[in-house]
Amino acid sequence: MDLEQLPKKCTENKELRKLLWLRHGCTNNLYGDDGEMQCNRCMIDFKRDSVETIESRLVQPWFGGLAKMIENMKDMPPEFSKTVDDNLWDLI
Ligand SMILES: [Zn+2]
Repeated sequence: MDLEQLPKKCTENKELRKLLWLRHGCTNNLYGDDGEMQCNRCMIDFKRDSVETIESRLVQPWFGGLAKMIENMKDMPPEFSKTVDDNLWDLI
């Protein structure tokens, strides 16, 4: 990377983190005093956490919930499982 681009990339990173903080799906529990960008519901610090941490906290609960739903489908009657299975594809 061209070092002259570094300040611009840092500014873009800050702006993208701010947009992600504001638009990640939570409308309550956001803390933004003194330049902070935290969500107390997701427990993410959008200013300091790594991209990997932010990604895992945003994505894994959703996939964890999906895996649990699929696991619970094993005990359902076949007719109901078929309906859930069809609707599942609409969600993905
Ligand atoms: Zn959140």
